[in-house]
Amino acid sequence: MTEALSPAISISAGSKPHILVFPFPAQGHLLPLLDLTHQLCLRGVTVSIVVTPGNLTYLSPLISAHPSSVSAVVFPFPPHPSLPAGVENVKDVGNSGNLPIMASLRQLRDPIIQWFRTHPNPPTALISDFFLGWTHDLCNQIDIPGFAFFSISAFLVSVLQFCFENIDRIKSTDPIHLLDLPRSPIFKEEHLPSVLRRCLQTPTPDLETIKDFSMNLLSHGCIFNSAECLEPDYLEYVKQRMGHDRFFTIGPLCSIGSGLKSDSGSIDPNLLSWLDRSPDGSVLYLCFGSQKAMTKDQCDALALGLEKSMTRFIWVAKKDPIPDGFEDRVSGRGIVVRGWVPQLAVLRHVAVGGFLSHCGWNSVLEGITSGAVILGWPMEADQFVNARLLVEHLGAAVRVCEGADTVPDPDELCRVIAETMVEGGGGVAARAEEIRRKTGEVTDANGSSIADLQRLVKEFGRLN
Ligand code: UDP
Repeated sequence: MTEALSPAISISAGSKPHILVFPFPAQGHLLPLLDLTHQLCLRGVTVSIVVTPGNLTYLSPLISAHPSSVSAVVFPFPPHPSLPAGVENVKDVGNSGNLPIMASLRQLRDPIIQWFRTHPNPPTALISDFFLGWTHDLCNQIDIPGFAFFSISAFLVSVLQFCFENIDRIKSTDPIHLLDLPRSPIFKEEHLPSVLRRCLQTPTPDLETIKDFSMNLLSHGCIFNSAECLEPDYLEYVKQRMGHDRFFTIGPLCSIGSGLKSDSGSIDPNLLSWLDRSPDGSVLYLCFGSQKAMTKDQCDALALGLEKSMTRFIWVAKKDPIPDGFEDRVSGRGIVVRGWVPQLAVLRHVAVGGFLSHCGWNSVLEGITSGAVILGWPMEADQFVNARLLVEHLGAAVRVCEGADTVPDPDELCRVIAETMVEGGGGVAARAEEIRRKTGEVTDANGSSIADLQRLVKEFGRLN
């Protein structure tokens, strides 16, 4: 029931594939998968999305955009002893919420099977977040093909896969030499993702869920929110490991036309008018993702560095402790935001020239595609790996600090900010611009990411 696809044409009405989508409830995972779902719906796919009540609100933009092709399949959130009542998203508790939420969601297996078996027109495939590797078995049980969605780089997938396969070998060495991987990278143990490091230390029942990660590469297909031009060698490595070509590189999703803007919303009018009055490229935007809480010492050092640098800035501080009097001292030149900011929209504003970032993968993609020079401060999770790719492999960013608990030196911070914002960071700004142009090409109508998106839709049509 498949038709030939061209960039403008999708599957015809009447033959719409029905796909089950299972996101992981952390903003960095959920938002790109909803963006992908939007792209699939635009191309004629019907979708059911597994969600718990506390996350239903995040589906609203998608459901409004596609009222007849998206439905939410709502299951009560399975409780977990280490999660406060009402917590259903990592955003509500920070990084420590990942493991218990992963363990909780595992308990949805039977309810999903029951839902599937009683559905009049059950889905013909599942797309699930890579944190839900156990869904590989679920797919076998209900006999539909599974697709793993990676909201992380192929570089990180390569690192994780290598480490899980060589856990005994790496347990006893530091730094860890990943000799079998392209470029043979070497990482200090403390720079590997924290979930993996905890796995190397004391095993707990929750950590068993991490080991599900390896199941992802056994999926029928893998989908990457990445781009050929960013990490061709690691994408190829993972593809080789999978051993077939149901491998789809469809990113950066944030720059594919007619995006969902699921979380972009609109910029606060005061912030927007301040940005409009700022010279092009003059503003440094600071945000450390959706999970990180900064300490008082870190905020003091950041504030001092910003004050000395004389740079215009927006600092998304959320509930972080900003020093008393700071906002008055920088009034007119800098803005501290206490809540959630529509990051992509802010980064795209012509006044923004730099992005001091923790290097979460979504932030990296949003920064790169907006042409902002990234000043990286990797702290935990995948961030050291992403910073390595950006700074060393691509030469498109500078490193400004490292470590979750590190307090930066304000003078050094001031120096790097000034060097990058004013002088272009010794060619880094030019390289960032080149990468921006290349990522723009892959998401153009004739680009490789769009071609892979079409190939994915075609695959769903074939499975129908
Ligand atoms: N984000 C946002 N506004 C904020 C903070 C974060 O829109 O105030 C978005 C950001 O644009 C990105 C996601 O939340 O899409 C964070 O994902 P990332 O992978 O960068 O970091 P994580 O939160 O997973 O550490």
